[in-house]
Amino acid sequence: MNTGRKRILITGAAGFLGSHLCDRFIKDDYHVIAMDNLITGRLKNIEHLFRLENFEFYHHDVCKFIHVPGNLDYILHFASPASPIDYLKIPIQTLKVGSLGIHNCLGLARVKHARVLIASTSEIYGDPTVHPQTEDYWGNVNPVGPRGVYDEAKRFQEAITMAYHTFHGVETRIVRIFNTYGPRMRLNDGRVLPAFIGQALRGEDLTVFGDGSQTRSFCYVDDLVEGIVRLLHSNCADPVNIGNPDEITISQFAEEIIKLTGTTQKVIYKDLPVDDPKQRQPDITKARKLLDWEPKIDRAEGLKRTYAYFKSLTKEELYQSDHIDF
Ligand code: NAD
Ligand code: UDP
Repeated sequence: MNTGRKRILITGAAGFLGSHLCDRFIKDDYHVIAMDNLITGRLKNIEHLFRLENFEFYHHDVCKFIHVPGNLDYILHFASPASPIDYLKIPIQTLKVGSLGIHNCLGLARVKHARVLIASTSEIYGDPTVHPQTEDYWGNVNPVGPRGVYDEAKRFQEAITMAYHTFHGVETRIVRIFNTYGPRMRLNDGRVLPAFIGQALRGEDLTVFGDGSQTRSFCYVDDLVEGIVRLLHSNCADPVNIGNPDEITISQFAEEIIKLTGTTQKVIYKDLPVDDPKQRQPDITKARKLLDWEPKIDRAEGLKRTYAYFKSLTKEELYQSDHIDF
């Protein structure tokens, strides 16, 4: 049946960002084909969409040949472990999804004449020596360090995407995503925001790694999704940073979470993980100019919304240790 709807394949659809992208494209009246192997994602994030006639879910590992019947207009490749503890636990899968997985998506795009947008990351800049990070900075990555499995997979992913664009004429878009937060992050994925809020809710001390002077710049998920939609519909094949330039140290961030949650717990200090970047802040001049995009939701508002989500979790979810499914 031809409904006239645009058809979009979203890989990593049951994850944090993928599920928000599914919501956005359903809202915009697309036919959404969601694909995930559920290694770090959860069906709960998308189960509210199952009853819709313009939503389909494929339980599939994108490292294996991808077969999607019918035409496709767009492919968003978001499948990949994304938190440092996840990709340290499943390093080979991380390398595979960033190489074999994107290769399958690009091959599919070529056959279907679809436009592909890939989720790249600020991690391709590694521990940056240029600050804030502009898209023309090539980065400072340790390929054989523990984070190398993620950073190099994402760098390869950019390279093969650009090669398919240049040599096969596939329409491609590359978004370099900086730390993004919001509802549906997994409480125990080890990223700093769910870690701190989970600790506050369970009455535990907040664990700051290192001396807490390292910085990050946190973007609320709705702002990121808007930036991705604009990039997808733009004509820019070069990478574009999407993030919120409001930079903060991790110590200050812990204090903000303490204030937000009203916890009486304190901050404790633990060892800084190997190769943990010392500073990170996106330069979003390009996104402002090409996409007329900038973040609209400040951290106070974004944290309020995110905290409301975490507070609504059941006690069982709050105390669940980890659920990476091997
Ligand atoms: P997430 O772990 O919540 O989601 C990733 C999803 O991909 C999960 O549902 C997982 O099950 C799925 N997946 C992993 N390997 C797969 C495979 N081989 N086949 C099919 N599905 C697979 O992480 P997220 O935060 O939503 O990140 C999504 C994407 O955005 C990732 O590519 C990540 O690298 C990128 N990104 C995220 C951030 C951020 O701050 N959240 C920052 C930079 C880049
Ligand atoms: N971090 C921390 N305590 C935690 C988890 C993380 O101090 O319980 C720090 C981590 O070392 C890093 C920053 O918070 O400096 C952001 O970590 P996250 O894993 O969220 O993202 P990434 O390092 O990939 O930016």
